[in-house]
Amino acid sequence: MPVSDDEQDVHLNLKPAAVDPQPSGHNPVHISELEERLNDMGDSWETESLFEDIIEDLTENKPFEDLEDACTREESVKYRLQLQQIGPENFCKVHVDSGAVTAKKLLTAFGVRPPAFLEGQEDHRYYSLLVLALTRELSKRAKLPHFNTVDDAATLLNRSKNIVVITGAGISTSLGIPDFRSKETGLYSKLANSGLAINDPQEVFNIEVFREDPTIFFSVAKDILPESKKFSPTHAFIAMLQNQGKLLTNYSQNIDNIEANAGIRPDKLVQCHGSFATASCQKCGYKVPGDAIFVDIRNEVIPRCTKCIAALRSKGNMKRKRSNMSKRSSSGRRPRHELDDTDDEEYDFPSAGVMKPDITFFGENLPDEFHDRLVKHDRDLVDLVIVIGTSLKVAPVSEVVPYLPPHIPQIYISKTPISHINFDIDLIGDCDVVVAELCRRAGWALSHEMIPQDQQVKIDLEEGYESRHLFSTVEPGSSISGPVSNKVAKSLP
Ligand SMILES: [Zn+2]
Repeated sequence: MPVSDDEQDVHLNLKPAAVDPQPSGHNPVHISELEERLNDMGDSWETESLFEDIIEDLTENKPFEDLEDACTREESVKYRLQLQQIGPENFCKVHVDSGAVTAKKLLTAFGVRPPAFLEGQEDHRYYSLLVLALTRELSKRAKLPHFNTVDDAATLLNRSKNIVVITGAGISTSLGIPDFRSKETGLYSKLANSGLAINDPQEVFNIEVFREDPTIFFSVAKDILPESKKFSPTHAFIAMLQNQGKLLTNYSQNIDNIEANAGIRPDKLVQCHGSFATASCQKCGYKVPGDAIFVDIRNEVIPRCTKCIAALRSKGNMKRKRSNMSKRSSSGRRPRHELDDTDDEEYDFPSAGVMKPDITFFGENLPDEFHDRLVKHDRDLVDLVIVIGTSLKVAPVSEVVPYLPPHIPQIYISKTPISHINFDIDLIGDCDVVVAELCRRAGWALSHEMIPQDQQVKIDLEEGYESRHLFSTVEPGSSISGPVSNKVAKSLP
């Protein structure tokens, strides 16, 4: 809707607005609460700060098909590209000031759902929100225009020598390791229904809670303990990059330490949240290989420090006595599982420290090597970035990609696309399938028991995108529409 005469003082304010680059840090404001406050104040700078609070909540990752007047995928891609090309001021002149398109509709091109409380209001009421959406879009790295196809990705793999690979839970889910944050199958949702005396599932990984009552962590630890020496095709792919001398660093969010099973060397791996590879005494700091406490973890027994025990023994103050350990912990919580050994003839080691796997809990510092490696080593050397199986919402991995030079090509491999980072090539699907296909196209033989010898992969270009490819596997014998890899036979031994 064009701006009418009596509203000419209303202009799009194109000064950069402060947009929090870490949406996870937001305290979401309830829409109803916001509506009340908006009605009280009308147009003012305060309105804008309120919009800043809600823009992430209004952001969606797919076209708004339920809305009557929303941009199509094609329109969205066109508007986003044009914003980068002509800048925000010209962009607004051409589209909004001219009345060619409403600010309300333009919001949808940038993934923002027009809020219900503005419904029916004049279009200028949407301007502040549009400015925020444009600012957010412009703060993203611009996609490199010359990398688009799956074969471009394979070419990049072949030519790159210092690849940074960033991995998340998505590369271990095919092994049955739960994704903590997934709503349906995740550990957190399991915990929410577990009957444990915790308010928030994240408390399981809170260091204060652990110190107060380690039984909570050890009653679920066996569920996230790596079971065996298995690893996924995606782990094998990363190991293959390493063995070809192409892996600069694998930044992993995973604590399962499955990278080691695949042969990824410790000097190539930064486990951003620590891992089960080692465990440390919470009292004396004594460190042991992680598997030294696996038996206790599997039996839901709290592992105690052998060094502390030995020290206590040598002091001669350990006495054989009837156990008087209470089943009730000091916090008064009653653990679901009875972790304390109540065998009458057991030694009681009240002073021996508890062994904690060296995974980084909330409230603990990140491993030092993370920032050192990124700042002093990788930033100057990296020539390709591949992100696999993570939505990059959680620090510190969320900080890695924006920190690397923007002219370095970036490839994204995951089941679900993300919108807060512009990658050059999005390969959407089961990451094990995607990496297998990439290897075929790169001319590399990636063999793994989970990759069928006759695997056929169907790749569709997502409508409206030049560089977003949807991967699926084709059942043998089924009819195929769309381009299917014809290189399967060539690359098989
Ligand atoms: Zn100790």
